[in-house]
Amino acid sequence: MDDGLSSVGYRGRFAPSPSGALHFGSVVAALGSFLQARTQRGEWLLRIENIDPPREVSGATDAILRELERLGLFWDGPVCYQHDRREAHLAARDELIARGLAYHCRCSRRQSGPGAYPGTCRTLHLTPDATATLRLRVSETPISIVDTLHGEVVETLTETCGDYVVWRVEDWPAYHLAVVVDDAWHGITEVVRGADLLDSSPRQRYLQRCLGLAEPLYCHLPLALDVDGAKLSKQTLACPVSGQPASAVLTAALGFLGHPLPSALTGAPPAELLAWARSAWSLTRVPLSARQPEPLNP
Ligand SMILES: [Zn+2]
Repeated sequence: MDDGLSSVGYRGRFAPSPSGALHFGSVVAALGSFLQARTQRGEWLLRIENIDPPREVSGATDAILRELERLGLFWDGPVCYQHDRREAHLAARDELIARGLAYHCRCSRRQSGPGAYPGTCRTLHLTPDATATLRLRVSETPISIVDTLHGEVVETLTETCGDYVVWRVEDWPAYHLAVVVDDAWHGITEVVRGADLLDSSPRQRYLQRCLGLAEPLYCHLPLALDVDGAKLSKQTLACPVSGQPASAVLTAALGFLGHPLPSALTGAPPAELLAWARSAWSLTRVPLSARQPEPLNP
């Protein structure tokens, strides 16, 4: 791609969806991926994953960009909007169809069931229409990825998810397809994100192989939980961090990632905190397990 970025070395990214303002869990993912890139003298890209218009919240994209800037998490190159990548997503979809790797399915959510999709439409040769999704034919061969933090993750896709949807009824790419196509286009060398997506990684690896794309490293950071033990997310209406002082937010996120701030830096501006974090950052200090963050201490 011609975006003024270098063509070699480490390249990471943060890829929020504009379904709400940044909450603590997304700050942890942003900060962890930022530090992982910066400590390797790499680039850190920002991609807004706006391929789900019904769930998009007006003004959320702007709020996310302003919040990252306020926290001193400045990205490289232009912001990528996944919505603008439709041609590439369509080309990947068409390639999967042309190579017989995907098929159309008209099962309702109820028919496809809660577990692995049973492959009901696999041999029906359905033609596409407005009610059809496109499913990828998955393999019975176990797929293995090595996560930088969690080690080896092995998944047999026929058992865990079955043939999964790569193109949705609303004529939008499904998350997995858009992610792997765009990560490859950006030349992302390591995907650093929340551990809720750890199980998705073998699915994405398999899709990368189907499409002949480069295979990035994966690193899944611990999840922040609310008091009930649920993942902090925009869906659970986790409090946005925008009302909190930037240094308090960064301090809490660094502590959550196993890098408690030295007391001499308490209340220091973001640039100073991040300079310290870059010198101290080590994945060996990052805990694996999901937990509740400490309360923010402004
Ligand atoms: Zn079906």
